[in-house]
Amino acid sequence: MRPGPVLVIQTAFLGDVVLTTPLLTRLAARHGPVDVVTAPTAAELLESHPAVRRVIAYDKRGADRGLAGFRRLTERLAAERYDAAYLPHRSWRSAALALCAHIPERIGFDDSPAALLYSRRVPRSRAGHESARLLPLAGPAQPAATDADMQVALTEGDRAAADAWLNGHGISEPFVAVAPGSIWGTKRWPGYAELVANLAQPVVVLGSAADAPLAADVAAAAPGRAHSAAGAMTLRESAALIERAQLLVTNDSAPLHLAGGVGTPVVAVFGPTTPAQGFGPRPGRGVVVQRSGLWCRPCSPHGPQHCPLGHHACMQQIPVARVLEAIRALPGGQG
Ligand code: SF4
Repeated sequence: MRPGPVLVIQTAFLGDVVLTTPLLTRLAARHGPVDVVTAPTAAELLESHPAVRRVIAYDKRGADRGLAGFRRLTERLAAERYDAAYLPHRSWRSAALALCAHIPERIGFDDSPAALLYSRRVPRSRAGHESARLLPLAGPAQPAATDADMQVALTEGDRAAADAWLNGHGISEPFVAVAPGSIWGTKRWPGYAELVANLAQPVVVLGSAADAPLAADVAAAAPGRAHSAAGAMTLRESAALIERAQLLVTNDSAPLHLAGGVGTPVVAVFGPTTPAQGFGPRPGRGVVVQRSGLWCRPCSPHGPQHCPLGHHACMQQIPVARVLEAIRALPGGQG
């Protein structure tokens, strides 16, 4: 009997979806291209990925919220008769989706709160980069992850849109990209405008539509030299802009992982989180700037919206000079 298709359920944040791409590649090598349930914001990223057969968008906080949306999705998944569901996101909802869709093999990590719903529990390493920590889900004795494993698959159309935007704004290479936003308030380093004013190169400011006011303020620090693309590009087109950039300066947020997925070096400014949590630049692919020796770091897995101590020293005490120094330490990053 021909084996059925396999499913990956990854409805976490955008950056987590990028970090799951090496796992998708390993699973596709074994089973053929996989289906993925993911959030609508991340669907576009996976639609072009060679390891993905089909993307199923699940808007768990919007159109598909509540029991009705959950049931609609389980019925759809059950009709596909998947052999196995891989569950990198350690959530009750992901596990319950796989169980209620009658998927016989449900493979997840043993430290998940939903582990009792899995049919196979895989030990999860606490050390190493998250993109590598997910690989044991694909089976034992996985070869080590390489930079090429993490991939944001861009189309010629994505690259053409990025080039058209750069040409339209009179920006020639080399340029620096900066991504000042984050959905978590304490992860936003407040020094971007001053940084941009002190750079010599053209600057492209990236972000979502929600980041557009912040990005406009940052771009205004260098009129004519810095331009905001926030909200003007699709996710993959933004990744194509990052691909063209000499380097990206970013917080601990999704653009950091997009840069990893297109092979662009990063300067990553970490505040309430630390790279030791597993979500920093991949080894050799960037420089981290952080306030060392602060007892309260890390104060949460994601970074809270507001500093519980009120001073936000983890970000406020990172001077622009340190980020400029980090830029200069990267190949070609003369700042
Ligand atoms: S508690 Fe510490 S680590 Fe957390 S936001 Fe405040 S200064 Fe940063």
